[in-house]
Amino acid sequence: MFDSLSDRLGGILDRLKKRGALTEADVGEAMREVRRALIEADVALDVVRSFTDKVRTRAVGAEVVKSVTPGQMVVKIVHDELVAMLGSDAKPIDLEAAPPVPVLMVGLQGSGKTTSTAKIARRLKDRAGRKVLMASLDTRRPAAMEQLATLGKQVSVDTLPIVAGQSAVQIARRAMEAARLGGFDVVMLDTAGRVTLDEALMAEVAEVKAATGPHEVLLVADSLTGQDAVNTAKAFDARVGLTGIVLTRADGDGRGGAALSMRAVTGKPIKLVGTGEKMDALEDFDPRRIAGRILG
Ligand code: GDP
Repeated sequence: MFDSLSDRLGGILDRLKKRGALTEADVGEAMREVRRALIEADVALDVVRSFTDKVRTRAVGAEVVKSVTPGQMVVKIVHDELVAMLGSDAKPIDLEAAPPVPVLMVGLQGSGKTTSTAKIARRLKDRAGRKVLMASLDTRRPAAMEQLATLGKQVSVDTLPIVAGQSAVQIARRAMEAARLGGFDVVMLDTAGRVTLDEALMAEVAEVKAATGPHEVLLVADSLTGQDAVNTAKAFDARVGLTGIVLTRADGDGRGGAALSMRAVTGKPIKLVGTGEKMDALEDFDPRRIAGRILG
């Protein structure tokens, strides 16, 4: 996802590193190039501006340590600010609550919500030894319910039996009850997606949230949609309240803008990234590692 940005930034910073002495004008010129590269990567304009301003201010005022060149110093500042922009520390899914812990999955249709629900369930089962129950609340698309059941079989995670005619809230309540009776640790609630953001979707998600009190509300967003993914996150957060983001299709050739501006624009951490269609294609989002990858 970050290949072309990484090439561009790598080139700019390499040139900077090789310079013996740096003037304020050199830093200014490099920041203009960094700014252009970030805008081309589809990073939100405000975020780009604040990022380059911070780097410039720190770089101009920085005391250069003897062991590094001024160029290396600027590169270090760019790295640090990039890590800060991405959210500093990895933020794993938080399940510290009395079981069964509800996790609400929200997002637009086609974002990879159902796939991510099953991937996360599999990971919680395999890595953390949790007993997980999944339930699809997509009452309008029976195919979505069946898709979750199929994935559940594939990853050996239980899904709530499908009962026709129930509302999303009724299914969510039934899932919580079944989890209590069955001694489950986690309940993954896969809400219905829509093609566009609409009030009916938001109202339904809000109602399910109120009925279940989820510990995590994770937005699944498609990184290929760039700024639209960020706007979707903003809208869901304003209406429903999010605790984190799962960014899918990081294996695609998206320009990286969504990943880079998500945290700064929404204040919510990207917790996980989807890196393929397979059930094991899910990675933690670690800002330090990502910054390292981008800067090469
Ligand atoms: P939903 O409508 O949001 O529930 O979306 P689905 O989970 O059905 O996913 C839609 C399509 O995207 C499916 O073909 C998935 O296999 C695919 N998909 C989901 N996540 C990823 C990902 O991280 N990378 C890639 N390449 N494909 C993904």
